[in-house]
Amino acid sequence: MVLILPIGDNMKILIVDDDPISRKILSKVVSDIGYESITVNNGVDALETIKQKECSVVLLDWMMPGMDGIEVCRQIRMLDSEYVCYIIINSAREGSDDISRALRAGANDYITKKTSSIELKARIGVGIRTAQLEKSLIDLNNRLKYLVRIDSLTGLLNHAAILKELSIELDRGRRDATSTSILMLDLDRFKMVNDTFGHQIGDKTLIRFSSLLSQNCRSFDRIGRYGGEEFLIVLPRTDDEECLAIGNRIRIQTETLQIDDNINNLRISCSIGCCTTVNSQKRSFSLIAAADSALFRAKKAGRNLVKSCK
Ligand code: GH3
Ligand code: MG
Ligand code: MG
Repeated sequence: MVLILPIGDNMKILIVDDDPISRKILSKVVSDIGYESITVNNGVDALETIKQKECSVVLLDWMMPGMDGIEVCRQIRMLDSEYVCYIIINSAREGSDDISRALRAGANDYITKKTSSIELKARIGVGIRTAQLEKSLIDLNNRLKYLVRIDSLTGLLNHAAILKELSIELDRGRRDATSTSILMLDLDRFKMVNDTFGHQIGDKTLIRFSSLLSQNCRSFDRIGRYGGEEFLIVLPRTDDEECLAIGNRIRIQTETLQIDDNINNLRISCSIGCCTTVNSQKRSFSLIAAADSALFRAKKAGRNLVKSCK
């Protein structure tokens, strides 16, 4: 028999046993400690239930027709690490060799059919605690992975993350023989926004402008805050004409962007440098350098302009 327990307030415990009497006894033990159980009578159904992430603690019978408990254990451990599963093997076998075999197959604990219900409850309790802890570590880790890529003010990708995305897209463009374009955008005279209206309004401007960028991009485009009031957009599968059109659309919409309902005289503009590489012939370093120099030309030519690197 294999035992798997779920996590959180509505954590459920999976009971896997081909013997209906054992399933009944274990269900009673689980309900006595205040948890709900899901019961299945074979290994295949057990794996399906675990994949649906319904249960994070499993009471698993060893001897079952078809896939036995040891094989179920191995298969569970081959799932990706996000499947939290505390496995308690329940078996009539009592020898050290058997216990050792079950633990080596990936079980967390081992009980025999003779284990008292008091001990069983305590062991299930350990399983629940362990599974909850593991789940919260995974959640925390996912949150950290997210935070490390995101600019906290605007919610866009940060400097390192947008560069990484650019390099991934260039690799893809090389493989698929497609064009990749980038836009380098810089808010015009942004220092004056801060100096005139204060840094909080300056921050709000950056947030509003970021939303405008998101609204103008497709789901597979990548938008990052390159630094300060500079932004980098990566446009996969986009040629120079489309890139220029997207740049101009953003530029025009920026002119009419309302930043704050109470400040009518705050209008902003942006300058944009764009560059396209066919089949990723340019590396990210030279692509950014080219877009940067186009941006510089846009600034020099009077701002609120889009210039291409061609
Ligand atoms: P230009 O048209 O030549 O780009 O002029 P500019 O004033 O936009 O450029 P400059 O580089 O002189 O100033 C950029 C300003 O952006 C200065 C800096 O305080 C401001 N800035 C950078 N990051 C932030 C931020 O996170 N919040 C706010 N409020 N301001 C920021
Ligand atoms: Mg700047
Ligand atoms: Mg600027």
